[in-house]
Amino acid sequence: MKDADTLVGQWVRPGIRALAAYHVPDATGFVKLDAMENPYHWPPELVDAWLAQLRDVELNRYPDPRSPQLIETLRRVAGIPADQSVILGNGSDELIQVIIMALAAPGRVVMSVEPSFVMYRMIAGYADMAYVGVPLGEDFALDVDGFIRAMQEHQPAVVFLAYPNNPTGNRFPREDVEAVIQAAPGLVVVDEAYAPFADDSFLKDLGRYPNLVVMRTVSKQGLAGLRLGYLSGPAEWLSEFDKLRLPYNINVLTQASATFALEHHQVLEDQARAIRHDRGVLLDALAALPGLKVYPSEANFILFRVPQGQGNRVFQGLKDAGVLIKNLSPQGGVLADCLRVTVGRPEENARFMEALAGVLGSG
Ligand code: PMP
Repeated sequence: MKDADTLVGQWVRPGIRALAAYHVPDATGFVKLDAMENPYHWPPELVDAWLAQLRDVELNRYPDPRSPQLIETLRRVAGIPADQSVILGNGSDELIQVIIMALAAPGRVVMSVEPSFVMYRMIAGYADMAYVGVPLGEDFALDVDGFIRAMQEHQPAVVFLAYPNNPTGNRFPREDVEAVIQAAPGLVVVDEAYAPFADDSFLKDLGRYPNLVVMRTVSKQGLAGLRLGYLSGPAEWLSEFDKLRLPYNINVLTQASATFALEHHQVLEDQARAIRHDRGVLLDALAALPGLKVYPSEANFILFRVPQGQGNRVFQGLKDAGVLIKNLSPQGGVLADCLRVTVGRPEENARFMEALAGVLGSG
């Protein structure tokens, strides 16, 4: 039977039929360094205080769709300029989806750099939009002239720039991002998922450009399980996006828990500081291993390239030793033989380094 002869083939859009579902590997039992999570929990007294607050949460009621207390806390803790609007998403993934849904129309383009966060491309596909990934240059540098030329050619409705970028870990020069914002015909989303580990941010630039919004998440900060992203920017844009946000997208447990966690943000900031420190230790240890190319990082992960043709073998060898990282080798091209490791606890990083030295030595 031909695909078009089945009910599913007849009705599910060809663009969706061609997609593969987002795959998350089973990490049970592994030293888990694959997903840019913060490896730390909270001190027991903080856990007790949090659980005590949850007693008052009314599970029988719908959440407040405006999440006022959480937004107020986020504004204060993140330092969002008072004249800018904020909307929340069930993870920043949902915000990407809301933005793309608002701008989608036949023939319209979503643009980013290549390689970058895969959800930009995937969600553009969900909405039947065209996606253009402008290749990064040598050592994953932003080719700003090439990017501006590509914008002139494709007139993207929206540009996503991850600042720092995933999976490469580098942060593009601020002047280059500013040049992109100024030359863009439509919206520019500066995605600051890794802000807790980076030396710069565009949050303070909101209001300087009519087409700039800044997206962040609490995921890498130690709250990945809550699923909370936030978008800040001019009310003109955000009031349109808010129409597409499902009314109860931030559930009562997330509203209460994230508000509590952000009121104790010092704990999260101390954890981020430890991760930044350990990133330096891990970068030095990786750089000392012969045969690796290690890329600089302002995120909580490090990208590195193993000798030619060894990517899949090294990834599997690490897995066999009980350490799960991210294998980018199957994507090929500029990511051939590239692996990405999240900075974990010092003892997890040591286990990873020991396993990696063993696997490389046995090649
Ligand atoms: N942006 C970037 C650049 C990311 O790397 C990620 C997650 N890996 C996200 C957004 C999504 O984050 P979340 O949905 O957990 O908020």
